[in-house]
Amino acid sequence: MMWEDRRVMGDYPRAAEVKPAKGCFINNLWESSASGSSLPVLAPAEGVVFAEIAAGNEQDIDRAVAAARSAFDGGPWSRLTATERGRLLSRLSQLILENADELTELEARDCGKPIRAARADIQAAARYFEFYAGAADKVHGEQIPFTNGYYVTGEREPLGVTGHVIPWNYPAQMTGRTLGPALAMGNATVLKPAEDACLTVLRIAELAAEAGFPEGAVNVVPGLGHVAGAALSEHPGIDFISFTGSPMVGTLIQTAAAKNHIGCVLELGGKSPQIIFEDADLDAAIPVVVAAIIQNAGQTCSAGSRVLIQRSIWEKSVTLLRDRFGAVKAGLPHHDADLGPIINAKQKARVEGFIQRAREAGVPVIAEGGVRDDAPAGGFYVAPVVFGPVPRPDSLALDEVFGPVLAAIPFEDEADALALANGTEYGLIAGVWTRDTGRAIRMARRLRVGQVYINAYGAGGGIELPFGGVKKSGHGREKGFEALYEFSALKTIVIKHD
Ligand code: NAD
Repeated sequence: MMWEDRRVMGDYPRAAEVKPAKGCFINNLWESSASGSSLPVLAPAEGVVFAEIAAGNEQDIDRAVAAARSAFDGGPWSRLTATERGRLLSRLSQLILENADELTELEARDCGKPIRAARADIQAAARYFEFYAGAADKVHGEQIPFTNGYYVTGEREPLGVTGHVIPWNYPAQMTGRTLGPALAMGNATVLKPAEDACLTVLRIAELAAEAGFPEGAVNVVPGLGHVAGAALSEHPGIDFISFTGSPMVGTLIQTAAAKNHIGCVLELGGKSPQIIFEDADLDAAIPVVVAAIIQNAGQTCSAGSRVLIQRSIWEKSVTLLRDRFGAVKAGLPHHDADLGPIINAKQKARVEGFIQRAREAGVPVIAEGGVRDDAPAGGFYVAPVVFGPVPRPDSLALDEVFGPVLAAIPFEDEADALALANGTEYGLIAGVWTRDTGRAIRMARRLRVGQVYINAYGAGGGIELPFGGVKKSGHGREKGFEALYEFSALKTIVIKHD
């Protein structure tokens, strides 16, 4: 039986109170899904069903795309100025902050993450809309020098109806990250959130209507990936698609985009290294290395899942790592634990598979954290672990685990560090720890990734900072001003005036 089928059949205990499904958010209204059926939503920290969401399908996606098309093609949304769009985004940001307590509780229960992390996520979601509110009317065109007698401009215009498929690891933040720039540029949007965690996404859609977004600008259809997600990405009525998730689904999304001759931005995860040279400030580096893998229980696309340590400081670094990592504990959102559970049983089994294979292969364990005694037995907890030295060809050194599992690997010199860092199929972000400025710049330029941190690391951080990968990590850039270019096209207008 497939995982999805098992969940639909609901073989998990139900909480005393189960929030009923609201439907699909189309044209600023809750519409019942065409199928009439719903999907259970699990609290991963407890292992119980606490809510239901509509099981959106092809027909719901059809209705949402039609709503967005009407909004874009002459509806009230299409007539707003960039400044007016900015004001709506600003209002939405304020409403998210005004409702932060409710959204924080929802996000924490839906994803299982510690309450303070959920609060930070909600503030980040508000900040995304704030950033793009301010940016909406600052996307200037250009004047292009051309032959005498001609006046030429380049204008940035919206793409039309944009599709958005997002994952379960940061539902609220991802909503701000993908919808913020798309709406700022004047696109009408259809978002398919992840079936595993999307309650804050649905609430933010409601807040968008309250903020005054005209009907059809923001549409959200929850549902299963291979049903609603596939229907959206294959829909001939969309003009662009933005996807964050697994490389496997990224391939399906890009194939569907190619068939419709539209563009896409893909953000597909990574195996991001933090590289510690012998001249680094280890007291500064080690806490950041630990934080970057336990954040969101390692379920972060830019998690620092590899630490590459120069051999001359291996022993010293491992001792510091062991002291810090050994104290880390997973637990319930409200217990202010260092990390929460894994999102579901399937992902937990996948993470445990990596750990078991590494143990069986005899890869040494440097340090192991734990799970608090009061964590519910039904929750999907995995005790965090650091392996090392991990052999270079080992799957743990090369593949994305998406869990709290850190691979420590020694290197000899700068060339070796670079070969190792660039030696996976991924290329999302990297951290370099050194006091040598020349080395820092050389490394930054040669690392095949989209973002490099020097003496710092920011997994998922920095709304202002363009973000995205190379190779299997995907392509295109989100965040920062760059995202406004992804969600718009340049039109050249040539005027003969003599
Ligand atoms: P996934 O790629 O299956 O799901 C991500 C989103 O894609 C969800 O909204 C899902 O409903 C949708 N989707 C699934 N199948 C689809 C299809 N055929 N067409 C269109 N949309 C579809 O990811 P997952 O199975 O939930 O997680 C598996 C792995 O993906 C993880 O272990 C991790 O390696 C990676 N992942 C990466 C990120 C990231 O932030 N880059 C986030 C989540 C998962």
